[in-house]
Amino acid sequence: MKQIAVTGGKGGTGKSTVATALAVLLGKEHKVLLVDADVDCPNDHLLLGIKRKKVKTVWQRIPRWDMEKCTKCGLCSTVCKVNAVFAPKGRKPIFMQQQCNGCGACVLSCPTKAISWSGKEIGYIYKGRGHGIDFISGELKVNEAVSEFVVDALKEEVKKTGKSYDFVLVDTAAGTHCDVIEALKGVSLALAVTEPTPLGEHDLELILQLLEKLGIGFEIVLNRFEEGKAKMIEASVVKHGRKIAVRIPYSKQIMEAYSRGVPVKDNSIEEIRRLVE
Ligand code: SF4
Ligand code: SF4
Repeated sequence: MKQIAVTGGKGGTGKSTVATALAVLLGKEHKVLLVDADVDCPNDHLLLGIKRKKVKTVWQRIPRWDMEKCTKCGLCSTVCKVNAVFAPKGRKPIFMQQQCNGCGACVLSCPTKAISWSGKEIGYIYKGRGHGIDFISGELKVNEAVSEFVVDALKEEVKKTGKSYDFVLVDTAAGTHCDVIEALKGVSLALAVTEPTPLGEHDLELILQLLEKLGIGFEIVLNRFEEGKAKMIEASVVKHGRKIAVRIPYSKQIMEAYSRGVPVKDNSIEEIRRLVE
C-alpha cells in the first residue's frame, strides 16, 4: 500500500481537484481509498457526487468540576495553558469549553480531585463509494476548534483497512497546523499543490519547509499554469533543489469540470499518476 498526501500551504490552490481526479484515475487499475482530511471544510464528496454515510462520532475528552470538592485554590487556572479556566484564588472556577484541548493538566493538578473527565461530541466520520473508489472523510462540528482530534480519529479508521488498498490518497487541509501534520503521518510521498501567485509562492515555501522537517518526500504540482506567469514559483522551488514536476494548465475545460462536480480529466493528471505509481 502506498499512502500519498495531496497538500499545499494555501487554500484554494486546487488540492481537492487534484486529489479527486487522481483517485478516480488510479481507481481504474488499482484499489483506491480517498481520505478527505480537510475536516473543517470537507468537499471531496461534493466534487465526486458521492453520498456519504455517517459511521462514527468523534468525542473529545473535557474536564468536569465537582464544586463540592473545590477549595477555590486557583491551581487549575494556573496550569491551563490555553486559558480555558478562569479561577482567581477564592472564587469558583469558570470553564470555557470551546478553548479546552483536553490536555488534562487541570485534572492532574487539582489537589482535592474535584476535576474528573467527561466528553463532548466534536465531529463525525463518514464513508462512501463512487467512481470505482472507496471514500472516507472527517468533519468537525460547527463551532468546535480542535480539528486534529477528528483527523486523528479519521487516520485511526484508515489504519484499520488501509492495508487492503493499493493506494491511500490523503487530501489534507491547507496550511501547516496540527491538523495537517496529523494528516501527513504515515504518508510516503506528498504532492504539494500550488498556484502562480505571490500567496501561492509564500505558502508553498511553508509547506515545503514542513515536509522537509517531517522527512516526507514530495513533488510539486503547479495548478492554473499559464506560460510566462510561473517564473516566481519556478525560482522559488529551485531554492529547495527541486523543479516543478507537473503543470496543470489554466483551462476552461478544467474549470467547467470543477464547477459541474465531475472529476477533472487532463493529460497533467495522467502525468501525476505516472509520478506516484
Ligand atoms: S485546582 Fe481543584 S480545588 Fe483548586 S480551584 Fe481548581 S478545581 Fe478547585
Ligand atoms: S484539560 Fe487542559 S486545556 Fe482543558 S481546561 Fe484542563 S488544562 Fe485547560
